[in-house]
Amino acid sequence: MKVAFIGLGIMGGPMAANLVRAGHDVLGHNRSRPAVDRLVEAGGRAAGSVAEAVRDAEAIITMLPADPQVTEVAYGDDGILAHAPQGALLIDMSTVTPATSAKLAADGAERGLRVLDAPVSGGEAGAVEGVLSIMVGGEAAHLDAARPLLDALGTTVVHVGPAGAGQTVKAANQLMVAVHIEALAEAAVFLKASGADLEAALRVLGGGLAGSTVLQRKQGNVLGEQYAPGFRLDLHRKDLGIVMDAARELGLALPAGSLAAQLVASACANGDGGLDHSALLRGVQRLNGA
Ligand code: NAD
Repeated sequence: MKVAFIGLGIMGGPMAANLVRAGHDVLGHNRSRPAVDRLVEAGGRAAGSVAEAVRDAEAIITMLPADPQVTEVAYGDDGILAHAPQGALLIDMSTVTPATSAKLAADGAERGLRVLDAPVSGGEAGAVEGVLSIMVGGEAAHLDAARPLLDALGTTVVHVGPAGAGQTVKAANQLMVAVHIEALAEAAVFLKASGADLEAALRVLGGGLAGSTVLQRKQGNVLGEQYAPGFRLDLHRKDLGIVMDAARELGLALPAGSLAAQLVASACANGDGGLDHSALLRGVQRLNGA
């Protein structure tokens, strides 16, 4: 397919490269140029603007940081709604609010676009390896049309409901991941203070009920106290804001999620927002003078 790919960052870069590898004609655009150059090296083509990228596209994928960037790229004068051809698929894979996704689906449909929200989980490694979990909101028929693309990006592609539903499931994912990482960080500080061999301890914990994808993927960061992102804490703060806003509207008490949101906010306030979310460990260390 002819695919326009907007947002070639930590996730979008390798995802676009996987589409090239699967035989698609990928025209990429990113705010900063080096990311576009990397796509060209991988066999894709460069677009100087959103309008140029989408003009002849059969499918448009966006992988942008948050709501303001998705809104700008979709609704701007140079944007997708103004320049995409009738009938094109528009698949927003960024993590944004369900309300933004639902509005984009309605506004896109008015202009003849077939819109899906398809946020992902699996991190940078999942993007590179093409094994993402993709939670899809929107019309099932649009997902059928998008399958050849999404199957090149992920191994678990599930239709979870109408427009915006993908974002709701992604919000739940982010709540679970933050609580898991905080649990791992607290266990690591406890084990170290107890004089345990942290590497051996995490290895055996990984084989039991405490084993998880978070432990498997993040233990290297924790053991080495290395926090190159990965997934940035400032993006996780944004995602937990989505969860907590929705919980407030629903009148739900989600105490562990609420605490995780505060700990992530504190980490960002302490200057760790640009680090991988495994840097929640630094917050637990600060609390304990470690
Ligand atoms: P990133 O900051 O690395 O990438 C975003 C890219 O978008 C950057 O290259 C940036 O230059 C580009 N961009 C920003 N505004 C733009 C605009 N107006 N026009 C064109 N390009 C623009 O972020 P990321 O880690 O790749 O995350 C992207 C999305 O995926 C976020 O919504 C994030 O929450 C979500 N996500 C990230 C991960 C992860 O592990 N990193 C995992 C799952 C989901």
